[in-house]
Amino acid sequence: MKTNLAADRKMILAWLRETSEEKLDTLWRAADDVRRTCVGDAVHLRALVEISNICVRQCAYCGLRAGNAGIERYRMSGGEILQCVREANSLGIGTVVLQGGEDYGLERDWIAEIVRRIKGETPMAVTLSLGERPGRDLEAWRKAGADRYFLRFETSDLDLYGRIHPPRASRPINRIRMLRRLQALGYQTGSGVMIGIPGQSHSSLVNDIVLFRRLDLDMIGVGPWLPHPATPMGSGGALFRCSSDEVPNSETMACKVIALTRLFCPEANIPSTTALAAVNAENGYEHGLSRGANVIMPNFTPAKYRVKYEIYPKKVLLSHPKSSVEAIRFRIESLGRGIGTGQGERIRRQGCETQRETLLKSTRGAA
Ligand code: SAH
Repeated sequence: MKTNLAADRKMILAWLRETSEEKLDTLWRAADDVRRTCVGDAVHLRALVEISNICVRQCAYCGLRAGNAGIERYRMSGGEILQCVREANSLGIGTVVLQGGEDYGLERDWIAEIVRRIKGETPMAVTLSLGERPGRDLEAWRKAGADRYFLRFETSDLDLYGRIHPPRASRPINRIRMLRRLQALGYQTGSGVMIGIPGQSHSSLVNDIVLFRRLDLDMIGVGPWLPHPATPMGSGGALFRCSSDEVPNSETMACKVIALTRLFCPEANIPSTTALAAVNAENGYEHGLSRGANVIMPNFTPAKYRVKYEIYPKKVLLSHPKSSVEAIRFRIESLGRGIGTGQGERIRRQGCETQRETLLKSTRGAA
């Protein structure tokens, strides 16, 4: 077991450092093969609704951090949220993701009621991504019918994590422990990291991928770090200057992490993220989807709020959700794939591990 882990780590590190495009083709193909066998050709859509940009945290990377006085804050009303959900449902989307800053004005019972309404009115799965909320909130939302929770651990390097994600004085929280708690509550649980944050080494990124597997995550979202000028990290603060062995926040590095994540977590739902599409608007989505990803998250946040949900500077495309879903459908079909039906939950399949082992062996030789 030990030797296997050592060989896996060595292989992951070799791929993260690989620069030959020809060799990388082997990695892309292996990831695509495992994706096809283990989660199939369907691309599942998740309707993203960014319900609040109010946040109590001071994350060094995120434009929503409490210390950023340069954005106007909003919190959507229950009616507005339900309207977005109904629209997504009418377009046949099987999951809604309610995401926001860590906003305690989103009260426990209020969110629980919204979850109950969505579950009562639609056949959709509900994913929550509302930060480090206390256990009793998570319990209440699960009881109300929430199916999934998404919380990135951002980096497994605890020293780096401490610098980029200052704890709130009253409640230091270990995100790994919170993920375990979510799993124990019966949530399908998702996590992930940013790629290329200053101070992130290649070997810490290896640890991140190994941890994805150890946590047996149902969803794994990764994307390149995009500097936001109104954050300590994005404005080049001394604390966040690079060391040697720094991971670049490039599209290729993000694709490598997606591909390796598919090889190590064959059944997970892995999105081709908006951050990836932000670094390559032309074909970032396609690259992600053909290198291991099987999910896309079209944005259903009303335009007037979407411009204010600036976790990183983005060229916000204010197309109506219906036309962006049509554009996404076209892009998926151009890859010879189709949009998935139903909730697109993680499914445990027999045979995945065997296929993964075989491909891993051939990939190990290539790296
Ligand atoms: N408040 C929630 C949701 C945060 S936004 C939470 O903390 O879980 C979702 C994700 O966006 C974060 O987990 C982070 O990984 C990513 N993100 C934030 N700022 C970013 C940036 N500048 N570049 C790239 N990704 C970023």
